[in-house]
This record gives sequence, C-alpha cells and structure tokens, in this order.
Amino acid sequence: MSALDLASAVRSGERSAVDVIDEHLARIEARDSEINAFNLVTADAAREAAAAVDAAVAAGKDPGPLAGVPIAIKDNMCTTGVATTCSSKILEGWEPPYDATVVQRVAAAGAVMVGKTNLDEFAMGSSTENSAFGPTKNPLDTSRVPGGSSGGSAAAVAADFASLSLGSDTGGSIRQPAAFCGLVGMKPTYGAVSRYGLIAFGSSLDQIGPFSKTVAESAALLEAIGGHDPLDSTSIDQPAFDLTSVLDRGVEGMRIGILRELSGGEGGVEGVSADVIARTNEAAAALEKAGAIVVEVSVPSATLGLSAYYLVAPAEASSNLSRFDGVRYGLRVDASTTGEMMTATRTAGFGPEVKRRIMLGTYALSAGYYDAFYGKALKVRTMMLQEFASVYAEVDLLLTPTAPTTAFQLGDRTANPMTMYVNDVCTIPSNLIGHPAISVPFGVGDDGLPVGVQLLGPALSEPTIYQAATALEAAASGEGSLS
Ligand code: GLN
Repeated sequence: MSALDLASAVRSGERSAVDVIDEHLARIEARDSEINAFNLVTADAAREAAAAVDAAVAAGKDPGPLAGVPIAIKDNMCTTGVATTCSSKILEGWEPPYDATVVQRVAAAGAVMVGKTNLDEFAMGSSTENSAFGPTKNPLDTSRVPGGSSGGSAAAVAADFASLSLGSDTGGSIRQPAAFCGLVGMKPTYGAVSRYGLIAFGSSLDQIGPFSKTVAESAALLEAIGGHDPLDSTSIDQPAFDLTSVLDRGVEGMRIGILRELSGGEGGVEGVSADVIARTNEAAAALEKAGAIVVEVSVPSATLGLSAYYLVAPAEASSNLSRFDGVRYGLRVDASTTGEMMTATRTAGFGPEVKRRIMLGTYALSAGYYDAFYGKALKVRTMMLQEFASVYAEVDLLLTPTAPTTAFQLGDRTANPMTMYVNDVCTIPSNLIGHPAISVPFGVGDDGLPVGVQLLGPALSEPTIYQAATALEAAASGEGSLS
C-alpha cells in the first residue's frame, strides 16, 4: 500500500497507525539483520508516536497528510536524544540536543520515524560500503550494493521497512541509490529544503530529499519538508511547493533536451553502459510519445563536473569536519596533551575515505595551491551555471541517465576510489549549480536490475520536474518494465 493510501486509511480511522508501524517493525525484525539498512530502530518511540496519531484521529483531529506513515531517516540528520552517528566511530555515543527541521516537519505531517539509516561515513561514497557499521545490501539482490551514500534509506524503502525515507544528496547520494534500488529519488533546489540539523559534508552542495516508490509519494513528502526555515541562512524565502496538484498535467508541448555529454553522446563522459543509454533513449521516446518536444542539447562543461566536485566537496568537508576534535562531540581518545588527544581521536575515529577527503581538501585549499585547484574548480562551477542557463533558454528540462551502470557487486569498487567516484558523473552537475533533479525508474538493465533516468531543471522548477516524472513513471509501468 502506498504511503498516501496508508495515510488516508489512518486518517479515516479505517486502519490504526500502531498496526501499520507494528507491521513494518516486524519486517525490519525479520530481514534487517541481512540488509543492514538501519543503524538504529526506534521501535518504542515509533509505537508511541503512532499511538498519538491514533488518539488524534479518535479525538476528531487531523494528524496530517502523512498520518501514520512509517519513515526512515538517514543517520546524518539530528534527532533529539536519539544517537546520530553519520555511520562514523567519531560520533559514538553522541545524542543531539535538537531535531533537524525536516525531522520536525515530517512528524508535524503525521509521519512516524521507525529508525536511523546507514550511510557511507559522513555521506562520502557511492555504495554504503564506507560505513563504520558494515555495508548495507541491496534488497533486490543482496550480492549488490544499494548505492550510496544514502544506501540505508534506499534499502529501507525497497525492502518495505518504511514507506518513505529521507536522504541527503551532495553529489548524487539520493538519486544514485534510488536508481540502484528501483525507487524515485529527488534532490531539490539548493535552499528549497532546510539543512538545519543536517550534519554538514559540503555545505554549498548538500540538500535533503525524499525516497519513495512512486512520484506522487515523493511529491507529498517534498511538500511536507520544503519551504522557508529561518534557522537555515541559505533557505529560500518562499512557501513550500505545491506539487501534488500539478502531477497529472502531462508533458504536452514541454521541451526536453537529451544532454549529450552525460548520455553516451560524442565528446561526453565515458563509461555509461549501453543498456543504460538504451533505457534513457527509450525514456526520451516515451516523453515524445506523450507530447513532449525532444531535442538533443549540449553542455560541454558538464564533463568537468566530476573534477570540480572532487575539489569543492573535499575542501568544504575538510573545514566542516574540523569540529570533530574529541572535545565537543562523541569519541575522545585520551593523550597527554590536547593536540595529541585531538590527533589520537581523529586517527581512531575517522575511516579511510573520510581521511582521504580531509587530506584532499586541505591540500586544495593550502596556500600556493588554492588558485590552481580550489579557485579553478569555482571557475568551472560558474561556467557550468552559465552554460546550463543558456540551455534552459531553449528547453524546459534535461534528461540523462542517473548513474552509468546498474547496481554493482559488493566489494567490486572498494579497492580503487576512482572507480567509485565515476558513479557520480551524471548527478554532480545539479549539485554544483544548485538545481533540482529527480531519478525515476525506467526499465531494467541487461542484468535484470533497475535503471534510473534523471530529469534536471533550472532552480525551483520542481513542479515541472514532477509533472514530467509522472509521465515517465506512467510510460515505464505501461511497458511493464518494473511491475
Ligand atoms: N558519491 C559522492 C561522494 O562520495 C556523493 C556523496 C553524496 O552525495 N553525499 O562524495
């Protein structure tokens, strides 16, 4: 049953929220020892919150649009008095004194948190294998990764442990796992969803967004978490999106560009597999059949995104992660001086990928290299903004694959970080320029695993993106590809 059907059954009193939660907790109990989607299952708090929803219904009050809907929260979002680890040993034992704004907003909408989900440590990775608590497995094929870094949130929805989940996306961490697990994953416009209480990785890139099985559920969750938040200085001062009312408007006359450089075209990025390119072309044909005008377009700088990102994101991370010093949060490894204590704590607390990023970022920002590396990356970012702006003068949205391949085998890419980084080649541009993008399942690859295609649009084009995503979803199910 979809989150929306569940919510209306709970709101009408036809189903009890406690029963809904118990059913999901039983599934977690039965299968999460194998999947490892959760760092923590908050069973008692979930039952209590569900009981409060039932009590509100019984008292004739409206518990909200997501009443009784089980939701899983990525473990880099703060939850009052509930361990928040970023899947890192360095935050061991830390319990935030406040809730992230999104956590408050989903609760205010009536959703019930069932637990905190596993991720690549501090959201750095594309497979959830960089977690200090062991990898998450893809529920569709447990020999494969669920993608990352929000792999736990994706797996939780794919395994029906929760109807919905929240992830964060700095370079693709919602969209790529959504593609690998056959889900819808959305990265909103930078500033459209509050980052207050999201533990920062790359502050100019990070955005929180929804995972769900369907586009309509994704829209409902984004409506619930979006809108201005005075606690986040980068929050856009405008009301939450109205998405659910535009979903069915179709794509008649909409102009959609296939972005050549990210879709296997000449002069573009390498390594996008033939089956993924085929599904992307089929998605374009389906949109055309539904009335859209499809053209091929070019954004040459899109190929530079990966290099720019792996300077900007580590640079920001090296600064953001300096707060984990053994004094203020979590782990402390004692030593004879304060400096030695900090070194010992960070040496023991951070995993290898996090250390690699801190070193890369510190190097890129150091005197003498700043202009050559960080400064150059910022110029690429500006150039991308300009090139995307001129292409959006011609088309409403862009279409690309979400990830170059389907879900890969666990352990396949851990030896060489570069093979992991290339996963982000299609998703990173939207983060660098702050634009929204959604991944929608569209058929399967040669291995029978889901393929995701990505719709990109200019800032605040969420309503148009959801409209086109609805049309794509309809076409995909019409083909019987994933149903
Ligand atoms: N895979 C990318 C990285 O490792 C993106 C991660 C993310 O979006 N959080 O940085």
